[in-house]
Amino acid sequence: MEMTSAQQIWRTALGELEIQVNKSNYHTWLQKTVGLDYHDNHFIIGAPNTFVAEYLDRNQRSLIERVLSNLVHNEVEAQFKVSTDPGNAAASYATRGKNIPVQQTSLALFNPRYTFDSFVVGRGNLLAYAAARGVSQDPGRSYNPLFIYGGAGLGKTHLLQAIGQTAVANKQKTVYASAEHYTNDLVTAIRERKTDDFRDKYRSADMLLIDDVQFFGGKEQTEETFFHTFNELHNSSRQIVLVSNCPPKDIPLLPERLRSRFEWGLVTDVQPPDFETRLAILQAKAKKEGIAASADVLEHIALQVQQNIRALEGALNKVVAYARLMRANLSTELVTEALKDTAGNEAKRIPVTPALIVETVANTFQMALSDLKGRKRDEPTVLARQVAMYLIRQDTDCSLAAVGKELGNRSPATVTHAYQKIANDISNDPQLRRKVLGIQQKYAPAT
Ligand code: ADP
Ligand code: MG
Repeated sequence: MEMTSAQQIWRTALGELEIQVNKSNYHTWLQKTVGLDYHDNHFIIGAPNTFVAEYLDRNQRSLIERVLSNLVHNEVEAQFKVSTDPGNAAASYATRGKNIPVQQTSLALFNPRYTFDSFVVGRGNLLAYAAARGVSQDPGRSYNPLFIYGGAGLGKTHLLQAIGQTAVANKQKTVYASAEHYTNDLVTAIRERKTDDFRDKYRSADMLLIDDVQFFGGKEQTEETFFHTFNELHNSSRQIVLVSNCPPKDIPLLPERLRSRFEWGLVTDVQPPDFETRLAILQAKAKKEGIAASADVLEHIALQVQQNIRALEGALNKVVAYARLMRANLSTELVTEALKDTAGNEAKRIPVTPALIVETVANTFQMALSDLKGRKRDEPTVLARQVAMYLIRQDTDCSLAAVGKELGNRSPATVTHAYQKIANDISNDPQLRRKVLGIQQKYAPAT
């Protein structure tokens, strides 16, 4: 089978995997993988480095094989290889705006697909869309900040990047980052004693776009710097747009002064799409990709996938990949057949809890839970504790503060330090890496 097909199938598989594994897992291990080749039941997946390839091989192989087998309706054996293929997801993101100095555009990495033109407007997202257009046309003067919130896969990042691409086209210095990225940037700046650069980068923006700001909750040092960044930009009428999975008042552990600022401008949400909007999104996507699907077929997909636009796009990809593999025409029967394993997958996943991780770490290091959470500072205990912090950050959505709390009320800074230390150590120390992977396997066995 030729390369494009392997790439396409893997892209569809990623859509499925994104729903099945938790967000940080997806981000760490899967996001940068590519489908390299598929022949004789062997599916070759490219990973950015050996660590990721090894992790996927040990921990996610059966899940991946199951997803692939479902997609191609055949037993598939997955193989993982290191690949720096330029076709991978991260590399295909491009910067826009030709006449702007590199130094400025390099701060804003956008998915070229995420524009206002490709955004389908419906009842659930009309207000957010209108507000986003408003701030992109008249930055700093309509609503500042603009705060958009809503559930996963409803187009928040799409809108945020559409604002960004418009701003870059209008030669505005645009800084786009996820809250997680902002935090990592700060930590790096502190470590490398470059906090002035950090401050310049964010405070010199004409337009600051921060995605997933719910991650700011409980991160004290980040909040502190963001508070000042916010004030400085706001005072000089530069536009700030924030995106979150919940309204400001529901972000856990967000200090009052930030919460109130987040509510200064316009707070608006995106709602799950109604049937007409789902159908319109499918029609737009089918048209753009040259997929010849009848109204019947698209309606059938729109009826089956209701909650989330990412899942809706995944479903269309899946149906098309299925038809191609079966050499069949797109029909409503084929849609039913192709999507039969999709519904309900989300509910089957067992969530990994911090408590389960701490317990597994204690067992593996043969240590009492009370020691792990207590004050002992001998080397083995400290290492086990740091591994537990690392794994909770890696495999759950817990904030730094929540991780610290789980391990005997340690500070977010301690957790950040532990996370970075272990992340660094496992890439240099194969023995520790095996141990950490072994622990992950125990609490999240590949199903
Ligand atoms: P969120 O950030 O809310 O989780 P995303 O912005 O990542 O969601 O959207 C998920 C996918 O759905 C993206 O591929 C995006 O382009 C697409 N999408 C979301 N809303 C729309 C829309 N209204 N019209 C077209 N595509 C959309
Ligand atoms: Mg998003």
